[in-house]
Amino acid sequence: MSNLTRRSFIKMAAAGTATASTISFPFIAHAATRKVVVIGGGAGGATAAKYIAKAGGGSIDVTLIEANEHYHSCFLSNEVIIGERKIDTIKFGYDGLAKYGVKVVKGTATGIDPEAKKVTIQDGTTFVYDRLVVSPGVAFKWDTIDGYSENAIEKMPHAWKAGPQTTLLGKQLAAMKQGGTVIITAPANPFRCPPGPYERASLFAHYLKEHNPTAKILLLDAKEKFAKQGLFEQGWKKLYGYGTDNSMIEWLPPSDEGNVVGVDVDNMTVIAGEMEEEITGDVINVIPPQTAGKIAFAGGLVDKSGWCPINKKTFESTLQKNIHVIGDAAIASKMPKSAYAANSQAKVCAIAVVAGLKEVDMGTPSYLNTCYSILGEDYGISVAAVYRLDEEKNLIAPIKGAGGVSPMDASDEDKKREVVYAYSWFENIVHDMFN
Ligand SMILES: Cc1cc2nc3c(=O)[nH]c(=O)nc-3n(C[C@H](O)[C@H](O)[C@H](O)COP(=O)(O)OP(=O)(O)OC[C@H]3O[C@@H](n4cnc5c(N)ncnc54)[C@H](O)[C@@H]3O)c2cc1C
Repeated sequence: MSNLTRRSFIKMAAAGTATASTISFPFIAHAATRKVVVIGGGAGGATAAKYIAKAGGGSIDVTLIEANEHYHSCFLSNEVIIGERKIDTIKFGYDGLAKYGVKVVKGTATGIDPEAKKVTIQDGTTFVYDRLVVSPGVAFKWDTIDGYSENAIEKMPHAWKAGPQTTLLGKQLAAMKQGGTVIITAPANPFRCPPGPYERASLFAHYLKEHNPTAKILLLDAKEKFAKQGLFEQGWKKLYGYGTDNSMIEWLPPSDEGNVVGVDVDNMTVIAGEMEEEITGDVINVIPPQTAGKIAFAGGLVDKSGWCPINKKTFESTLQKNIHVIGDAAIASKMPKSAYAANSQAKVCAIAVVAGLKEVDMGTPSYLNTCYSILGEDYGISVAAVYRLDEEKNLIAPIKGAGGVSPMDASDEDKKREVVYAYSWFENIVHDMFN
């Protein structure tokens, strides 16, 4: 992105955030209290609960159902794996939502009854709603890689949901023998955080360069191309000798036999490509193919793609009335599956939910996304976009000139600054979600 377009983008982004954080609607004095239930207290759900409660001004009863006591963000979890930050820095509680009147229930939603407008949790308690927001994130398709299953994750962690898996993969990396091989398998699109596997490979290389300099990282990919590829490869060349015989990172797309078809957990082996070559790793990080979170299936919100079709203006499911789906689980093309996208969608959804309940016009939404990736010390890159609604095509379309990726000729100073921006983005977004 040129400096000029980046400046205009930042201005627009700031304007968008200001609008979203001051959402308000005329208070209807005698309206009965309406009930909104939100499932999932992550990037999408926590934001939605907060902004619906804020915009409701006390006239909407908001209940957030979350399976865990604390949320561990995937964002910046790659830094936890390599020991650059503590797991507690990506751990958040829900007390901050109380001041907006959000009631937080610790429980796992096990059923949605769209007819009775009712959610059931694991102990049988039910919650009725006028509107339901569902933001459960992703589930893994265990059966698509031969030999892989939920039981395999203690030996071959995915670390694609942050928490114990993050810590486990970090321990394995630190304990790896000198000169060992780390295998990372990246899934086909669509999946959570398109640049994530490549940032992970970069940060693993950053760590190994110092602690295990003869180690190798083999990145086996189900795709021919990946997000910010030119920028990643440029960084890998500069930092990790990519493309030379001494490269720390090797990336193999399907055309180079990189597509993983199976694993042998006991023998720490992956089976890849048409030739079904067996490759042994010392640390194997399988990032499995993904679908919408399980509860979305129980609610009849998922189509044959495995994801949830929605009206892109309101995020209301096109399959079930009065239920909105946001975040990774939703088909929100052309937005990627990212925390910033989930946060932005949550604000649009909050406006839609409150406007729907108050029977007022919600206006025309706009949406934002930025994804930073850290490749090494003082080396960051990013992709950013502002989107508008194309109602006719039911598409969230990037606005030309209001975004882009970091320039290939960015200075060292710019790359260093992107790391500062990444940390600042993190502080701001988690504050916006949980406080
Ligand atoms: C390694 C990695 C790095 C990433 N880095 C970035 C980044 O730098 N920037 C960025 O923007 N994005 C990043 N992401 C992507 C980001 O984490 C996701 O896109 C984002 O978290 C999606 O938000 P969500 O609300 O859909 O799901 P989540 O944030 O996963 O939240 C879902 C919540 O729902 C809860 N839940 C699920 N089912 C139920 C149920 N039945 N009942 C109750 N609760 C339930 C879960 O416990 C969870 O708390 C990264 C992801 C990974 C894996």
